[in-house]
Amino acid sequence: MVDIKSLTIEGLTEYIKELGQSPFRAKQIYEWIHVHLARDFDEMTNIPKALREILKKECTLNTLKIERLQISKLDGTRKYLFRLEDGNFIESVFMSYKHGNSVCISSQVGCRMGCRFCASTLDGLVRSLTPSEMLDQIYSISLDTGSRVSNVVVMGIGEPLDNYDNLVSFVRMLSDEKGLNISQRNITVSTCGIVPNILKLAGEDLKITLALSLHAVTDEKRKLLMPVADAYSISELTDACKKYFDMTGRRISFEYALLADKNDTDEDADGLSSIAKSVGAHVNLIPVNPVRERDHRRSSKDRIVAFKNKLEKNGINVTIRRELGSDIDGACGQLRRRVKSEGAN
Ligand code: SAH
Repeated sequence: MVDIKSLTIEGLTEYIKELGQSPFRAKQIYEWIHVHLARDFDEMTNIPKALREILKKECTLNTLKIERLQISKLDGTRKYLFRLEDGNFIESVFMSYKHGNSVCISSQVGCRMGCRFCASTLDGLVRSLTPSEMLDQIYSISLDTGSRVSNVVVMGIGEPLDNYDNLVSFVRMLSDEKGLNISQRNITVSTCGIVPNILKLAGEDLKITLALSLHAVTDEKRKLLMPVADAYSISELTDACKKYFDMTGRRISFEYALLADKNDTDEDADGLSSIAKSVGAHVNLIPVNPVRERDHRRSSKDRIVAFKNKLEKNGINVTIRRELGSDIDGACGQLRRRVKSEGAN
């Protein structure tokens, strides 16, 4: 089967030509898929029936099915559990802010990075998502909510830079003016810090924001939380971040989950300040979501505020991640796990 939603306009034109059709059909089909968000080839009413029949036989639109939807009574945040065509599950979240609607998407089924506080990695990696499966999280949610998505963050299940080529195609297609045309400035990719791929991404001529999940300020402490720290040191990471900024002009942001008694002292705040300063990074503090299978606790409210104040005093641009949908689920990956263990079908 041809994964037609993963084809760029160039790829689709090639394919349509191979079918002996005129290239302008590719333009029409691309628009049906990526602007009108067609879920079925029969929606493509200006495409001749005979061609639609060929497409139906040869191609998949790789549409996701909503397996479950949880809507927060507190703030309207919507958490989707999607079923992929092969039966695997992923999660996506829709959040409404004053400045627009944001969708958080998954990039893989599971994850192999092994971060100790994260639910998504508990069963390891099943497989990476195709560009179409990443796009369709946004398309499905746009259709379901009837609203325009203006921001996309790749912070759901998976490590996007462990699915590099598909991630880059996805970003190009999502920001394509012939598609949904979401500004690259409104796309954020979060990584646990795969240094060679940060450097590669810096050279892609993209204007996206890179978020780095730092979570600790010494290599020893980081190794206790994130196995990826065994491969890359914090100084290698900060060098890569500086290069990313120099090459793209895009300011890096650091994600820092506050874990009680693990990384939340004033000393940690000072360490974080100097690393952030050296990179010119914005810091986003995350009150950690406790994961049943893990033994980490969230830092107290007072500690979180004290930590933030310390950073601010040091001149760092810092925000505490607003908690949305706290009534519908904890950390990403938990809904998928719950449904898997219940044996959803
Ligand atoms: N693999 C990528 C993106 C997915 S995780 C990355 O590591 O950045 C998105 C963010 O959520 C990361 O900063 C991750 O460290 C954080 N995270 C994971 N588990 C969490 C938890 N239980 N509570 C709070 N944040 C968590």
